[in-house]
Amino acid sequence: MKFKNFPIYRIEWVTSIFLISTALLSLTVVPWFLWTQYNLPVDAANKVHGWGFIWALFVFYYYATGFGITLGYHRLFSHISFKAKWPVKLFVLLFGAASFENSAHDWSADHRVHHKHVDEDEDPYDISKGFFYAHIGWLLFRLKPKPPVTNVKDLEADPLVMWQHRYVQWIAVFIGFVLPSILGYAYGWAMGFSNPAMTALGCFLIAGLLRTVIVQQGTFCINSLCHMFGRQPYSRDHSARDSGWVALLTFGEGYHNYHHEFQHDYRNGVKDWQFDPTKWIIWTLSKVGLVQDLRRVSDSRILAAELKEKSRTLGMDVEKIVSRFDARTREVKASTIAAADNLAKDLAVRAEALKELAITKADVGADTLEELQGLLNKAAEILESLRRSDAAAIA
Ligand SMILES: [Zn+2]
Ligand SMILES: [Zn+2]
Repeated sequence: MKFKNFPIYRIEWVTSIFLISTALLSLTVVPWFLWTQYNLPVDAANKVHGWGFIWALFVFYYYATGFGITLGYHRLFSHISFKAKWPVKLFVLLFGAASFENSAHDWSADHRVHHKHVDEDEDPYDISKGFFYAHIGWLLFRLKPKPPVTNVKDLEADPLVMWQHRYVQWIAVFIGFVLPSILGYAYGWAMGFSNPAMTALGCFLIAGLLRTVIVQQGTFCINSLCHMFGRQPYSRDHSARDSGWVALLTFGEGYHNYHHEFQHDYRNGVKDWQFDPTKWIIWTLSKVGLVQDLRRVSDSRILAAELKEKSRTLGMDVEKIVSRFDARTREVKASTIAAADNLAKDLAVRAEALKELAITKADVGADTLEELQGLLNKAAEILESLRRSDAAAIA
């Protein structure tokens, strides 16, 4: 689509003005405020006191609103990957609203369509329309009128979700902007600061405004970066990718290839070493009885997906590397190349068998899983050795 022909009535004005102005203010007013405050003498009338409190409130709000989205809007409401008692629901609905990403009802409706039609025209944040569109463009303007919402009947039966849906703008402004300002003022007043209004302003700018922009950009990165950059260990049938870097910024949501393959699993970073604090919190809440019925995909199904994907890519990767070798290197490496070839075939057969077993829910022994994991490691080793000799050949 050419932008000069873009119909102006498709612009989402309220959303656009909010998203653009909060981002601009965070990039201009916030640094200017910090800089001028830093340079003010201690006894200046408009000096902010209580920076420890302001930054602590920022951290609290960053996590509370971030988990409101990842734990609440995403894993609880969109995917029902566990069940939660009302205090957890209320918390994520209040603080999820304060991240200014619309109601849980609307967010989940869009997100369920995203999973069902990923990379297709119906996908609300379809990456094939480009990075900008998937990141934020889809919120700034609509390419088509929004289809009626029919995929969240379960959420519509939940009075708490519908209460938040009805009043979401009020809740967002109060919890997101007004409450941090009130808390800042109350703290300044209780501590006997000469100008508690300045502490309130600091809380509004840092814990309110700046925090909103950071949490929003984190969520947007899942839709853009995680459909463009990263590894695809579980499936290449869709554009979703695993990115440890994005996981760091998004409370563990960066393992998006796994998530698209197994969307009902309460874990996104499924391996022990992966950074998924949302998973850790859900698990911890389950231990104190605040959430239950955590859904997990069996280890054998996960491994079957990995074996299948490895068998698909191993052959291609080896071929690509080998094509760059000269005749002599190829001769020296003949046995490694043949081993890789056999391994790719073996992986394909084992993946199919494992998938069958997982479907019939037959028990897969720990020994078998370990053996298969060994095969995967071996495949990685062979690739690595070929890659190294390729690099040496180039040098
Ligand atoms: Zn996605
Ligand atoms: Zn999802």
